[in-house]
Amino acid sequence: MKKHNFNAGPSVLPAIAIENTAKAVLDLNGIGMSILEISHRSKDFQAIIDEAVALFKENLNIPEEYKVLFLGGGASMQFCMVPFNLLNKKAAYLETGVWAKKALKEAKLFGEVVTVASSADKNYNYIPKGFSIPNDVDYFHITTNNTIYGTEIREDFDSPVTLVADMSSDILSRPVDVKKYGLIYGGAQKNLGPAGVTFVIVREDILGKVERTIPTMLDYRTHIKEGSMFNTPPCLPIYTCMETLRWIKSIGGVKKLQEMNQAKAKVLYDEIDRNPLFVGTVEKDSRSLMNICFVMKDEYKALEGEFMEYTKERGMVGLKGHRSVGGFRASTYNALPMESVKALVDAMAEFAKIKG
Ligand SMILES: *Cc1c(COP(=O)(O)O)cnc(C)c1O
Repeated sequence: MKKHNFNAGPSVLPAIAIENTAKAVLDLNGIGMSILEISHRSKDFQAIIDEAVALFKENLNIPEEYKVLFLGGGASMQFCMVPFNLLNKKAAYLETGVWAKKALKEAKLFGEVVTVASSADKNYNYIPKGFSIPNDVDYFHITTNNTIYGTEIREDFDSPVTLVADMSSDILSRPVDVKKYGLIYGGAQKNLGPAGVTFVIVREDILGKVERTIPTMLDYRTHIKEGSMFNTPPCLPIYTCMETLRWIKSIGGVKKLQEMNQAKAKVLYDEIDRNPLFVGTVEKDSRSLMNICFVMKDEYKALEGEFMEYTKERGMVGLKGHRSVGGFRASTYNALPMESVKALVDAMAEFAKIKG
């Protein structure tokens, strides 16, 4: 039986993307070879990466002057590539969780770093508001969706300096005004494809301004020049990304996905707020549409293990909250069907009837 997959990452992907990847592994488009055994320089693979880039641009409405790259190393590699390429003297970071902190730590190796605001005082359960972005920094870095805590910056704001965003866990979940950003990056394994590939969307004119020497592989300009094929790219993961991007287009694009994500999140947050056993961990105006975190109220805390078992019996996986938050986290990425959210909500309601 197919599981209700609430994993935080790697996570649920569109069934059609998985099916078509399986076919391509056996025989790519009837060419008599697997996607696993063809050259990345072949015309067959070139067509795949070209389509992935074109669909990324089309789905996210990415302006002409931006390049889309597919690289290795994960989002974590971007934590150092960003300052390597962009930080001359000083950068600003918004500290909204563990991933933001890791990014900030790497930036400190390259220059001065200002923490513009932090939500560490409340275990990152909100997005800081009313902060001002300094205008004497090379860039301002944000994490739009904080996968572990379930907070999200859902709107694109204006920045007086180059805005850099880690969108690992909410890329393609809503329309993005790409023009407001200089660089957007993320690991594919939350909302786009399997683990092993990282996407970077970068406006070329922000590059080439730092004084340091950048190692070839860590220089964005290398990968722009070579179309993400300076070295062998992660061919199979790129193939699956291409299939996911096809699926996104086929269902009506990111606007449609945003509506679907809003509808799914509403069903679950409404139940969390209604159910006498559970309580959300995030301040309401910071709630993520992608990772929905909740715990049992203090008087019911002892039932958390039992509820986890209860959901497992109903075919749900991946609901355990991150150890730094506890309780439960339902990741409701693009490819998670409403049916799975309803199954969870039904389980919560029934459990409350038995125990409440
Ligand atoms: C998962 C995640 C990362 C880390 O991604 P890797 O590809 O494993 O390096 C970074 N930032 C955010 C917001 C994430 O969700």
